Amino acid sequence: MSNIHFQEKFEQRHNGPSAAEAKEMLEVLGVSSLDQLIEQTVPSQIRAARPLQLPTALSETAYLKRVRQIAEKNKVFKSYIGQGYADIILPGVIQRNVFENPGWYTQYTPYQAEIAQGRLQALLNFQTMVIDMTGMEIANASLLDEATAAAEAMFMLFAARKNKAANVFLVSDNIFPQTLDVLKTRALPFGVELRIAALSEAELTADVFATFVQYPAADGAIVDYKAFAAAAHANNIAVCAAVDLMSLALLTPPGEWGADVVVGNSQRFGVPMGFGGPHAAFFATKDAYKRNIPGRIIGVTIDSAGNYALRMALQTREQHIRRDKASSNICTAQALLAIMASFYAVYHGPQGIKNIASRIHDLTVLLDSALQELGYNQLNKAYFDTLRFDLGAEVAGLKSEALNNELNFFYDGATVGISLDETTTYEDIQTIVKVFAKVKAKNAADVDLAEIAANLGTAIPAELARTSSYLTHEIFNKYRSEHEMLRYIKSLEAKDLSLCHSMIPLGSCTMKLNATAEMTPVTWAEFGGIHPFAPVDQTSGFMQLIGELNDWLSEITGFAKMSFQSNSGAQGEYAGLMVIRAYHESRGDSHRNICLIPASAHGTNPASASMAGLKVVVVKCDERGNIDVADLKAKAEEHAANLNSLMVTYPSTHGVFEEPIIEICQIIHANGGQVYMDGANMNAQVGLTSPGHIGADVCHLNLHKTFCIPHGGGGPGMGPIGVAKHLVPFLPNHAVIEVSGEQGITAVSAAPFGSASILVISHAYIAMMGGEGLTNATKIAILNANYIKARLEAHYPVLYAGNNGRCAHEMILDCRAFKNVGVEVADLAKRLMDYGFHAPTVSFPVAGTLMVEPTESESKAEIDRFCDALIAIRAEVAAVEAGEVDPANNVLKNAPHTAAVVTADEWDNAYSRQLAAYPLPYLKLNKFWPSVGRVNDSQGDRTLICSCPSIEEYA
Ligand SMILES: *Cc1c(COP(=O)(O)O)cnc(C)c1O
Repeated sequence: MSNIHFQEKFEQRHNGPSAAEAKEMLEVLGVSSLDQLIEQTVPSQIRAARPLQLPTALSETAYLKRVRQIAEKNKVFKSYIGQGYADIILPGVIQRNVFENPGWYTQYTPYQAEIAQGRLQALLNFQTMVIDMTGMEIANASLLDEATAAAEAMFMLFAARKNKAANVFLVSDNIFPQTLDVLKTRALPFGVELRIAALSEAELTADVFATFVQYPAADGAIVDYKAFAAAAHANNIAVCAAVDLMSLALLTPPGEWGADVVVGNSQRFGVPMGFGGPHAAFFATKDAYKRNIPGRIIGVTIDSAGNYALRMALQTREQHIRRDKASSNICTAQALLAIMASFYAVYHGPQGIKNIASRIHDLTVLLDSALQELGYNQLNKAYFDTLRFDLGAEVAGLKSEALNNELNFFYDGATVGISLDETTTYEDIQTIVKVFAKVKAKNAADVDLAEIAANLGTAIPAELARTSSYLTHEIFNKYRSEHEMLRYIKSLEAKDLSLCHSMIPLGSCTMKLNATAEMTPVTWAEFGGIHPFAPVDQTSGFMQLIGELNDWLSEITGFAKMSFQSNSGAQGEYAGLMVIRAYHESRGDSHRNICLIPASAHGTNPASASMAGLKVVVVKCDERGNIDVADLKAKAEEHAANLNSLMVTYPSTHGVFEEPIIEICQIIHANGGQVYMDGANMNAQVGLTSPGHIGADVCHLNLHKTFCIPHGGGGPGMGPIGVAKHLVPFLPNHAVIEVSGEQGITAVSAAPFGSASILVISHAYIAMMGGEGLTNATKIAILNANYIKARLEAHYPVLYAGNNGRCAHEMILDCRAFKNVGVEVADLAKRLMDYGFHAPTVSFPVAGTLMVEPTESESKAEIDRFCDALIAIRAEVAAVEAGEVDPANNVLKNAPHTAAVVTADEWDNAYSRQLAAYPLPYLKLNKFWPSVGRVNDSQGDRTLICSCPSIEEYA
């Protein structure tokens, strides 16, 4: 036999257990094959009728070759389109050590603060940067994009308005079309009226609660809003501004002219355009609104030793606590991209940022003068980086000449917009001048650029020139050399536990492998360097990639079509519910407003339902954790006239394939409702069953869970939705790029395909696994979970299981009884850090429990190590139960133990330092040290500090 045709299978790299290990694990479970386990686990009535029909799996090498060919179909023209997206120079030290580094991109959201101080610091730097640049008092640690940030601002100001009769959001007519589109979508369910007007003519009537302006405006003009803001405030009207962060290096920040909320995109701080994303939006406001801010906020506190420590602040505002009363449904945001933008500010510092902004502005003034000299009419008197020319009949000629030279401008009727960025050079200006000269049949050489440059003025009005300083904190002034920068990045990375260290067994979050081959294409210029509004004939690579992904995910979900607009699971929920709303409306059923949600649902479900204007009715679960079908039926029938939908997670958040799921869907349909399936647990379905097969109408997929996009420490993500045929016409459209039909709802995101550049990760995963590989992955995810269950159930009661005693891909460990001796589930979570592990999901969906999800990517060895740790910890709890140790002073209560504590000269604990830090032998070989002791949550919320404190302030 020759080995000529031997091919490596990616599947064997993606899945943790080897065939031999899988066999051992099956023996522990007492089954003879994987298929026997699956038969015991997945109800036969929901099993797919046929195997997945997907292209044959490619090896990593073959895939990279193929995706290179796809990438080359994208044409990377020089982009001057602007509209909120700018080309950038990503410093290599940030690209290689953050963007392309699993030590940063495989981290989880920093709920376990003690092993997340690095990214918490980077996110605090982000907040500080935003506060400084905008001149506001408080900022969050990122939102999904500028348009949704604007919508969040509208909603926050609407909810906080004093005059409850006011329902008008007065919007300038000079804002980005994609922002307006998303505002329309969000305004609809709340009866907010968008009044679009030229602000110079707008009346500040009593029905207006807030107003929205853009600075600089969409066409590039700089308007002084000071008098307008004062007039608005005199009428109790709040002012929200969308801004360009880079321009604020030169312009008076909105905080100084009276804005109450400032939103925008930090993309141009070193994050590639990526055909729309991902990048981090920001949200800054006044202290007075601190309890109303959407999204996550990082705050300063102290740890158990009284030292500086960081954690997520004011979490009681968030959807996982407040559910349908939450201020927003944000869960996954854009942490990794916010971290990159903050490092860009750290790398350049205030002078560097000012130099970049000044060069952009000077080149813009140069171009303006040169083109005016050629006889062109420029419309913006005051501007930062954007010019607008009225070309009249010459526009067609210019467009074709520009395309000949591979230049993209922004065309609007007879005008052309040109936005410069930090990549623009003097030579680029020469090229543009040549193109414009040719259209007038003039000689570019007649324009003496050098002479204009020698006498350059400014187009920023003196009264709007920035005088205040920014980025004054030493963090932004210390790391100028690459060595210093590299070491700063690495010092923060070293504080954080990621998938580089150990499994992160978070139930519902599916922390699986993010393979290098999947990540590699993300930073290619052919994907990163494309503007989301680039002409379609330049984006055929993306169209092919998205088209294939659409076909594959439709096959996997059993649905007719996907929409790739939503940037997170929660945003997918919202999009799906708005699609259902449009469907009901099209049938004259606009009164349907009741949404049934089981008590065990993720917090985003009720929060999204309430954002979509629905009334949430909670459905009970029975003592076995399953949806109480009788209660569901009773409530569906009671509300039949107004039933809108059911939101259901499958397998349930309790980690069980509920048998009656088909009947549940039928009950909802019989009463006029639609079934929304939360696809967060899709990792237990792929290839075995599907939402479409079960009978759901819509579902979102968390591509950052099931389909390998890394979590990035709390984002990015992608939450595309799949829908059955009858809902296809209502999928979201977009104001600039048509992506749906005329019945399509208005946009849910700024970009037509959301965070398009990371779709390649999921594309790669499916292409390299193939149908059989994906199905095997699902089976192994179920095997791994049941193996953990088998190993741990003698030590921890496992809440809920299916009829044959099997769990799905995750399980809940009940820790509530430990409370009797004062041991909280949080103590176990913190103690796991001493053992080198990140805690499973704490207190969701059941308070006082741990939810464990190993995924298919963990090997038996890693799973055994994790089980050994949990078994050892159980023995530590038993010692408390037996009264052998002090209930207030023991390894659990004092966890996690830092190196500083363990090596201190003083040690007055009743247990040994060995036991504190090295409780199991494997730790001798590989020890991860938490960088701070247990953080103090209440202290941090009492005295809220959300920007980098000065050394003196902190001491
Ligand atoms: C993760 C998750 C969500 C929210 O997804 P995001 O992408 O974080 O917005 C919703 N439902 C369930 C069950 C989840 O696990």
